[in-house]
Amino acid sequence: MIGATTLLVIGIHREELAFGEAVAAGLDRRRFDVLRIPEGLSGRHPRADQRFHFDTLHRALYRQLPPHIQTRHEQVIDLHTGLDPHGPCADLYSRDTAWLAERLAQAGGLQPAPRLVSLLPADPESGDSALSAETVIPPEIWRNARFLYVGVEMYLPEAGRGRQIDHDYARALLNVLSPASK
Ligand SMILES: [Zn+2]
Repeated sequence: MIGATTLLVIGIHREELAFGEAVAAGLDRRRFDVLRIPEGLSGRHPRADQRFHFDTLHRALYRQLPPHIQTRHEQVIDLHTGLDPHGPCADLYSRDTAWLAERLAQAGGLQPAPRLVSLLPADPESGDSALSAETVIPPEIWRNARFLYVGVEMYLPEAGRGRQIDHDYARALLNVLSPASK
């Protein structure tokens, strides 16, 4: 028994903490350690003139995570929520979408299937604006070779704590992303 190999982070955005807590309450804690951010940022989108300040605060918050990431943690899952009347459904953000696809396939799929979004390094030389996802998450988190960062955006029909069906979908997804220890 080496302890949980997945670290689940909830509450980076404070409006989304209640959902994260509801989901975490039903997880197998032998597989998941849970890091609850007690005072997250507001996830509401800032005005254009506040963007820089907002991004800086995000980076500062994410830079507080590394001391909580243990050597046994192979996955770091950052749970967020968004709104979609057709939810529950999800977008997954990671540097390794092939691994995500493989895990989902091995688990026999999930309905509806999550959308996979690749996080790519910014290329200052090309000035490429066609990044798969722009991120304020520092590269020492999402590009770290020691663990796999997976950002999960769970879409719910309504803001708040979510319904049982939303929690069940989120837990099924998180279990797929946390392979049982070897
Ligand atoms: Zn969020």
